[in-house]
Amino acid sequence: MRTAIALAILVMASLGAFALVKSQQSAPVEAPAATASAPAPVTAPPAPRQVVRTQTDATEVIAQAAGTQLAQAQLAQATIRPAATPAAVTPAPTPAVAAAPVPPPAPVAPAPTCANPEALGTARVVEIDTTGGPAFGFEHFKMYDFLKDKEVVLTFDDGPWLNTTPHVLKALADQCVKATFFPIGKHATYYPEILKQVAAAGHSIGGHTWSHANLGKKTLEEAKEEIERGFSAVRWAVGGPTSPFFRFPALRHPPEAMAYLAERNIGIFSTDLDSFDFKVKKPDQIVKGLMAKLTKHGKGILLMHDFQAGTAKALPQLLAELKAGGYKVVHLKAKTPITTIAQYDDMLLKDPKLNPAVGASRPLGNVVRTIAGE
Ligand SMILES: [Zn+2]
Repeated sequence: MRTAIALAILVMASLGAFALVKSQQSAPVEAPAATASAPAPVTAPPAPRQVVRTQTDATEVIAQAAGTQLAQAQLAQATIRPAATPAAVTPAPTPAVAAAPVPPPAPVAPAPTCANPEALGTARVVEIDTTGGPAFGFEHFKMYDFLKDKEVVLTFDDGPWLNTTPHVLKALADQCVKATFFPIGKHATYYPEILKQVAAAGHSIGGHTWSHANLGKKTLEEAKEEIERGFSAVRWAVGGPTSPFFRFPALRHPPEAMAYLAERNIGIFSTDLDSFDFKVKKPDQIVKGLMAKLTKHGKGILLMHDFQAGTAKALPQLLAELKAGGYKVVHLKAKTPITTIAQYDDMLLKDPKLNPAVGASRPLGNVVRTIAGE
């Protein structure tokens, strides 16, 4: 099976289907709006390194050779399979007083199957090597143009949130597509069970600071704490590996914080097409706005918010229109998970609201359940 998949990928490679990355040495083009100083050059990754590559599966290594000649008939094998589901998140038993905040890894769940034969589906999975903090999203960074025409990446910020994130998850599941989420650390501590559902559905989960602070207005030390505490909270909530993907709140990119993320080998994601769903509240207007931008630009990383009720309502229609318009969904996967810093993991232990020493890692349903009424 692996050989067949590798052959299939070689066919794709020979046809130029790989997202070959053009590595440019220039600094990000635009200055962060919130900072007065000129942008410091962000540490650029070494030129020949492959930052983005197509992968078929989270567990399978992709052949990187190109130019292999195979018969046209073998093209039929070159179908990209959806990514495997990551480890299902099973909460640890009630921890002892000194227990670490992150529950142990859970067993691997069976691969998901798409029950909807008409689904949009995930067309391509790309693996992102975040070494050196590569930055993506043409609104601010023009280094890595990894999407082909008609390809979109779905991203959702500011969750997890009650009554919105679950609707987003359902819409994505109904269309068998994978997305990338950038949760707020605090929100992750409010609703860890919802974030666990995001992880269990196979979506990628990055970070978006602890409190959604505008890092353009923070000192570097404060920015570090916002970034790290956010990642620690997200990882704590998920109870398993999460991705070294970061999106700056309000898309403000202070150079010092970007340099820090580069040191930490965390990839930065701005956007290509912003839905402005926090301003455009009506679902049909959100869909219309995004589709118009896509028609104009042809492809892109879409920025939405699972926190926004309008987006939660709009998503089924948006996905239907993407399919009707011939767009294809690309899923981002990190080459390696993020390594959180113990100091910030420990901060969660000291947070009385979380109180992990007395069983915060047990699922809500095991602690409180409805026994009468609805
Ligand atoms: Zn945000």
